[in-house]
Amino acid sequence: PKPPPVAHYNLNNVTITPNPLENRENILILTPMARFYQEYWDNLLKLSYPHELITLGFILPKTKEGNLATTQLQKQIAKTQKTGPEKDRFKSIIILRQDFDPPLASQDESERHKMQNQKVRRAAMAKARNSLLFSTLGPSTSWVLWLDADVVETPPTLIQDLAKHDKPVIAPNCFQRFYNPETKAMDERPYDYNNWQDSPTAQEMAQHMDPDDILLEGYAEMATYRALMAKMAKPDGLLHEEVPLDGVGGAALLVKADVHRDGAMFPPFAFYHLIETEGFAKMAKRLGWQPVGLPNYKVYHYNE
Ligand code: GDP
Ligand code: MN
Repeated sequence: PKPPPVAHYNLNNVTITPNPLENRENILILTPMARFYQEYWDNLLKLSYPHELITLGFILPKTKEGNLATTQLQKQIAKTQKTGPEKDRFKSIIILRQDFDPPLASQDESERHKMQNQKVRRAAMAKARNSLLFSTLGPSTSWVLWLDADVVETPPTLIQDLAKHDKPVIAPNCFQRFYNPETKAMDERPYDYNNWQDSPTAQEMAQHMDPDDILLEGYAEMATYRALMAKMAKPDGLLHEEVPLDGVGGAALLVKADVHRDGAMFPPFAFYHLIETEGFAKMAKRLGWQPVGLPNYKVYHYNE
């Protein structure tokens, strides 16, 4: 019998340009998912980047909650891919189930955000992101869009808008809509504090830490005085204003696939006293890729 054909990919021919649509570049959208939100899926369907160039990758924990989310996700996938309009259908979809247990059972927002729960939780999230990335990144992937399962609203042109900046790692600002009882109207507030610029205080704190200890953002008991992108949004600011970042969040993040191919991943351990997405930003920087953020370009997180 004839030996199987060898597939050749010349990575030089996989373009990563500010105009991915015109150049028909392949996008991989990666989502770690503990809960399924219909609003997330509806928003995904509204993305105007050609769906035939988009591969979706999901990883879900093997918990009761993860089982439910998998069922709900599969139902929407079947609807979109089999009976939905042709233009809505994605190129391919990959669902992974975690092969390790989440460190703690299902947690609501207040439990998740407790400081003593953060190191194990962030390490588990880092492993989930790495498993998802290393199992799905292909030789023809140009861009990876990290999009959390609870990001329920983005501009439909998200991919084109972020790619236009031609940056190795780029983060929009993640906000949250809420009902403001004072003004009796809908309002918005910053949500993701992991997009930041480093401070002398944080660097000084890191110098006195044990090698395995991590710095965390958004905790009064660990005031870092870092400049948070969440606080940099200006009502009259330019939509496409850029700021350099030293730490990034994973809620929404566009990464050139070459950054991941170079080896930048999500450290599930203290890396320069940083973990998960913030450790990823540091690793990208060490590889020579400077992350940037867009303070006035907003995406919205679900309000639990
Ligand atoms: P927060 O917004 O910073 O509080 O973080 P989340 O709890 O929303 O987690 C970030 C993303 O990871 C979301 O898309 C979650 O659905 C997902 N997620 C949370 N915990 C797990 C987990 O244990 N395993 C997997 N695969 N995904 C998770
Ligand atoms: Mn979230």
